[in-house]
Amino acid sequence: MRKYWGIIFTLVLLGACQEEKVTVDHEAIKISPIEDPIITRFGFNFEDFSVHQDTIKYGDSFGELMLKNKVEYPKIATISEKFRDTFDVRRIRVGKPYLILKTKDTTEQAQVFIYQNNPIDYTVVDFRDSVQVYKGKKRVKYVEREVSGIIETNLSEAILNQGIDYSVTHNLANVFAWTIDFSRLQKDDKFKIIFKEKYINDTVYAGTEPLVAAFFEHNGVPLYAFSFEGDSLKNQVDYYDHEANNLRRAFLKMPVEFGRLSSRYNLKRRIRYYGYKVRPHKGTDFAAPIGTPILATADGTVTESTRRGGNGKYVKIRHNETYSTQYLHMKNQNVKKGQFVRQGDVIGWVGMTGNTGGPHVCYRFWKNDRQVDPLQEELPLAEPLAEALRPYYFAYIEPIKEQLDCIVYPERIEEDDLLTLNELDGTK
Ligand SMILES: [Zn+2]
Repeated sequence: MRKYWGIIFTLVLLGACQEEKVTVDHEAIKISPIEDPIITRFGFNFEDFSVHQDTIKYGDSFGELMLKNKVEYPKIATISEKFRDTFDVRRIRVGKPYLILKTKDTTEQAQVFIYQNNPIDYTVVDFRDSVQVYKGKKRVKYVEREVSGIIETNLSEAILNQGIDYSVTHNLANVFAWTIDFSRLQKDDKFKIIFKEKYINDTVYAGTEPLVAAFFEHNGVPLYAFSFEGDSLKNQVDYYDHEANNLRRAFLKMPVEFGRLSSRYNLKRRIRYYGYKVRPHKGTDFAAPIGTPILATADGTVTESTRRGGNGKYVKIRHNETYSTQYLHMKNQNVKKGQFVRQGDVIGWVGMTGNTGGPHVCYRFWKNDRQVDPLQEELPLAEPLAEALRPYYFAYIEPIKEQLDCIVYPERIEEDDLLTLNELDGTK
């Protein structure tokens, strides 16, 4: 009986994945496809002009280039005087491409000068009638891509080997930073990613966008992540799982990026110096070199930034009515009492002020006015998705989740297969 179920299930899955793929590309929808890429560039119809294309050479000046192309001197002067904020003629750089659009008649008088600041941005100087100077952006095309892999050694190798930009690895690690310990990946952990690459005028690669969605199977446990704007007012995009749980935790695991846990929260700690008497340690110590930035582990308001006794220089932050955190032995603080800080903001630097044997930050975690062990606490989730948004969220992720589920893993080349290939090749 079980077998039958297995077969039916497989068929259903295949059915879903074989359907013609509908790619949801929200960014692409916003871009108008009406522009004819061949004739209209930078917003001008190139058929109306005689087009001269070049790059800025050593010794070129904007004024001379324009005089050579029959622009009257007063107009050139206007630009360097009135439009310096938009286009500083003294700052044209050697090697930058530019275009001059001239009249098609025998006078060949420059009408428009287009300077390309970078692959996406450009500046237009329009000499027709009264002079106009403005900035523009080229059309960027977003191409959706899928990538999947099975971990053999580490994550970046699994992605880079497929010719994918490093930023994708970095983004994937960030999305799951609170749920997966990437230093403890297992062989056979699997992942699938949907992301977008940017191309200028359909051809020039210009990097990737934040991930659209991802799937990670760690220790056999599947995890989904979908990017979604949970707070349109703050323009904040977060990653949520298939049940709309925010993947970001309200608290970072530790207040330094690369610190070594040197002493845990321990109520029964005995110290030889005090005759083996119990001296509870209610903080968690992270050793790090002097000057290492100390980060606020969550959003909150600074309630103390001062120096006192054994604590040395310290900062205390109130996050909400339940939680506060405190950071001791700082070299210096970087925040003032009353200041609002965001998660990850640098609030000070590791030092040795107060009672300490070496450079470290003593991190104290308060829950309902009692100090608890942050490494044992089930840390609260970040802002959940608003109830009103949940139906939209589920409708939005449905096709994306199906798309993720249908991505196949790359086939492994087993040693047996290699032998067979070699045999076929006759090169045993
Ligand atoms: Zn401590």
